[in-house]
Amino acid sequence: MSPPRTLGTRIWARDPSRTILVEPSAGSDREEARWGLEPASGDQTEGPVEGSDDLAPRFTGTILGVRQWLVPPSLDELKPLGSLKLNLPSWEIDGSATRARCMKVVNKLHEIPGKNCECGLRAYHPWLMPPWYFWSGDKAANGNRYLTGVVEAWGRIELYPEGFRAAFARPVALVLPPAFSADSTARIALGDLCDHADAELLDPDQGVPPDGRPLQPRGAAAEQRLTRTVLDDWFERNRSSTDQKVLEPLSPPEM
Ligand SMILES: [Zn+2]
Repeated sequence: MSPPRTLGTRIWARDPSRTILVEPSAGSDREEARWGLEPASGDQTEGPVEGSDDLAPRFTGTILGVRQWLVPPSLDELKPLGSLKLNLPSWEIDGSATRARCMKVVNKLHEIPGKNCECGLRAYHPWLMPPWYFWSGDKAANGNRYLTGVVEAWGRIELYPEGFRAAFARPVALVLPPAFSADSTARIALGDLCDHADAELLDPDQGVPPDGRPLQPRGAAAEQRLTRTVLDDWFERNRSSTDQKVLEPLSPPEM
């Protein structure tokens, strides 16, 4: 069994990856979803070369992934993991797509995400969500917390056994951290964020009245289990045929 990896480390980017191109379906009503795949940068005159987009498999639709963000106590921002160290830009939360940028290259010297770079919007495949990932505990500085959610992604995508790095993505569902369950201010703030972002709010205590929710923070194991359960439920309801088609060629990773 391979050691745990985080989406914020460089280890991940060193794994071999496979490039696919995912173009939103023509009927998509989102402006950003129509951002097509950009032509390869650099000299286009030499025809297809190995590793170029011309040879990458193309699919229509979007793919789904699971990831975490850092959120401030106000829950009104989705900061990428690693942003405290690297000053990365926050994700868009107005329903539009976030577009990946590369911090390493100026003037776009490579496609984004780069094959051998660390750029791109990262997420785990839904079937590979590691349990340790689902803890919203106060692991970050300045009162920031971790928020887990589902993204849909498209554009140029580097696929790994564990997940992907994508050119475009947007959050489609955000989990109310079980630790915030009894905190009505947090519930309302996340509800506002979800409204703005056109994302679904997933409440692990859905159906439980406010006065029936646990006042004490839950342990990490309980948080992880609850978060996993609401995500599994969401994927039961939302798994699209496009996803299957896009990911079919991937063989399951050896665990
Ligand atoms: Zn890059």
